[in-house]
Amino acid sequence: MQPQITPPEILSETVALLEAMCALSSPTGDREGMAAAMAHYRHALEDVGLRVDTILEAGDARGQPMLLARPAGIPGPLQSAKRGADLVVIGHLDTVLPARSPSIEGDRLLATGSADMKGGMATLVGALRLLATQDKRPPGDLLVVVVPDEEILGPYTQHAVEAFGGNARALWSLEPGKRRGDRETVVIGRRGLYNWRLASRGRGAHAGGAYWQGRSALVAAADWCRQAAALSRPDAGPTINPARMIAADQDFADAPSSDPALFGSSRQLNVVPDRAIVEGEARFLAPKDGPALLAALERITQEIAARCEVEMTFAVTKRVAPMSADGRSRAVAERYGALAARHGVGLEVEDARGGLSFPNMLPSGAATIAIDGLGPAGGGLHTRDEWVDLVSLDRRITLLADLLASEAEYEEGPGGAPS
Ligand SMILES: [Zn+2]
Repeated sequence: MQPQITPPEILSETVALLEAMCALSSPTGDREGMAAAMAHYRHALEDVGLRVDTILEAGDARGQPMLLARPAGIPGPLQSAKRGADLVVIGHLDTVLPARSPSIEGDRLLATGSADMKGGMATLVGALRLLATQDKRPPGDLLVVVVPDEEILGPYTQHAVEAFGGNARALWSLEPGKRRGDRETVVIGRRGLYNWRLASRGRGAHAGGAYWQGRSALVAAADWCRQAAALSRPDAGPTINPARMIAADQDFADAPSSDPALFGSSRQLNVVPDRAIVEGEARFLAPKDGPALLAALERITQEIAARCEVEMTFAVTKRVAPMSADGRSRAVAERYGALAARHGVGLEVEDARGGLSFPNMLPSGAATIAIDGLGPAGGGLHTRDEWVDLVSLDRRITLLADLLASEAEYEEGPGGAPS
């Protein structure tokens, strides 16, 4: 048995809240389910002393709710109150799959969204309840933001992070951390990405009679893929993943569904292919690595096009900025680690987590200090077998309460509000 650090009644109330939240089905885009999940969570926040507004912000006719909450006593509409120095704690209530009925097996609660991330949302309620029993307050500039469409990084999520996170002093995300035995993790870095598309146009020719007159778009594109992938580096380095390629004569490559029987047949094997299209992604951690990576891919494109005598165009089709660890986020992680150590819990810092989350949506150049992975650990995310680790949940409630209290002390310290 792991020693418990959260008072038993607060832990059991939090588990009960989490079970109830997970029983409400709220896959992304389910309007009725999301309305019920938001209403349930709204009551839970009000129950621990927050003032809550439900707002519709993303200018979207589907009318999904989004919650904003602040400590009670802040006057005026929450949306406009004291913008610019908030501590934004953000989370989402949508899940990828519809709900299954929750069950507890040993140290695990099995339920859809139990880790990603209703577990994080319940942790926040548990932490605020714990603070109240300790006669402590959360920071006065706390702003809780709950969105309905994080799993698709949808318009509410993008809007919420830009509007509330872009000017905030800090953005804390309640996505699941990890547990490694008696240690927990916190996330201060996530990779950004480019989606890209490479198109190559060569010269078709009969492979029997005119092989040397042909210019193979396929061979050029394959060479490009090999060189691009070779730019990948382990650890904090970038990765390039050519994900799919289609190469053939132009008619087939541009519209493969027009002749589905070609692949697997012996037709056109005697043609030097004049068309190739490759699609993939590239991920990187440091902001400066992004442009450098693009420049390297452009260089490869030009070099191969010239050498193979083909036309090649390389284009970025989507960009997502990295969540980049810096000295300020490391300092918060150290404070979190010191608080954890008081309870005998070790802390590991994740500074290159894969996957995208709220901090990736911050406007470039934002001075916001971003911390992620403050929610409890679990597994099977986005599957029927998702579970949350109740040992981690126990720790995360107390650690989040301590971290919030340390921010409140910081805020009221001799230097006044942090700048
Ligand atoms: Zn999530």
